Amino acid sequence: MAAAQVDTAEQRAARYLESVRHEPLLLHAFLYDMPKGGDLHNHLVGAVYAESFIQYAADDGLCVDRHNMALDPPPCEPKTRPPARAALDDPVLYRQMVDAFSMRDFQPGAESAHAHFFDSFLKFLPVTQGHQGDFLAEVASRAAAQNEQYLELMVEVLWPVMDLSKSITWTGDFDRAREALLAAGLNDAVAAARRTLDEAESRMRARLRCGTPTADPGCRITIRYISTVLRGFPPPQVFALTLAGFELASRDPRVVSVDPVMPEHDYIPRRDFSLHMKMFSYMHELYPKVRVTMHAGELAPGLVPPEDLRSHIRDSIEIGHAERIGHGVDVMYESDPLGLMREMAERKVMVEICLTSNDVILGVRGARHPLPLYMKYGVPVALATDDEGVSRSDMTREYQRAVEEFGLTYPQLKTMARTSLEHAFLPGGSLWTGTAPFKMTAACTADGPGAAEPSSACRRLLQSSERARVQWELEAALVRFEKAF
Ligand SMILES: [Zn+2]
Repeated sequence: MAAAQVDTAEQRAARYLESVRHEPLLLHAFLYDMPKGGDLHNHLVGAVYAESFIQYAADDGLCVDRHNMALDPPPCEPKTRPPARAALDDPVLYRQMVDAFSMRDFQPGAESAHAHFFDSFLKFLPVTQGHQGDFLAEVASRAAAQNEQYLELMVEVLWPVMDLSKSITWTGDFDRAREALLAAGLNDAVAAARRTLDEAESRMRARLRCGTPTADPGCRITIRYISTVLRGFPPPQVFALTLAGFELASRDPRVVSVDPVMPEHDYIPRRDFSLHMKMFSYMHELYPKVRVTMHAGELAPGLVPPEDLRSHIRDSIEIGHAERIGHGVDVMYESDPLGLMREMAERKVMVEICLTSNDVILGVRGARHPLPLYMKYGVPVALATDDEGVSRSDMTREYQRAVEEFGLTYPQLKTMARTSLEHAFLPGGSLWTGTAPFKMTAACTADGPGAAEPSSACRRLLQSSERARVQWELEAALVRFEKAF
């Protein structure tokens, strides 16, 4: 008899979400506290809020061009290029800078949303070098406050490689280009990138007071990095960045993947798309252990010629060896879209779903977004923020969109949180033997999800696997969260 059955904590939490589904503020409070697993698609620089950039620009003595609000190195000029520090005493300039560095209050007009979005990166670019540790602290602290357990952050730490690529003769022969780049000292740039990460992490720990009694919860977040490839540059530079990214990921366990970035609809990324796939295929042969995720299908009809919508996602998987796809918004415009989705489900290729970003950059939302179809066809999906600072969003707001725009339930959100960690590029075996539904591996079943003192069999798994350890943290957080209902 139904009345005699006792609800599980999960069912009570699910019922509570249903009771506040149409009350945005209560829904937000619920989702803010809900454990969310990992954010697997997060550009570190895009995750920083404009207000932080202005402060760092002021601290660094940079100037701001009043014409377009772009930051510039000194010397400043009081009328046209005042010091950024002037914005701290000038609310109008401050407001204009926040709007220029983000999508706040943006109304498409002479300037399109995607142009404003991508151009904002050029405006704050001069302040992004040398503050990675500050950025890490901001992002980790915000993630921990929202009960996230894990971050995979996209970083640009291989800038010197761009110059190095100019010292070699590019013939299109990958073997020769690789040998020439290695001989020219590519791995010095890789070593420098590792030192950049060391310095950034130590700055982050200092800012978050890690290891002290007043440590910020951000210290608890597990962080890994994805080395980006700036695909809008000419082939030699893209090749050098790709090679350096694979070398870096092979040498530094903190760097788990390589990912091509920059607007997919721009001229060079469109023209060289097939070439870039061949480069990734070549690197995969040489460095098979390095995992690959790719921005693909961040497109919409009208933004590019129809032919460019036909194969980017499939090629990224079949030629580029992508194990995850970033965005995948245009999937229904690919050749044989349903066949592609079946293939993605079969190969367990996860899609990093960035709802706010797709809305503000591409204007794709609601019924025009493929999220429900991915779910229907069994393609693994997890929510991610993309550029929470520029978009003026955060992970909680992504969850809220999933509930409000797509009617997702608590069990579906919980599945996404678990999926994010199942597809994280952390090394080690999984806590799960099955994912539809999630079924815990025998070693830990007896312990109850997230038990504080796991049995010796379970402890062995957790000690041997970083991934299982973070998965266990999520399960413990879910138990604590659901207990409240
Ligand atoms: Zn992205």
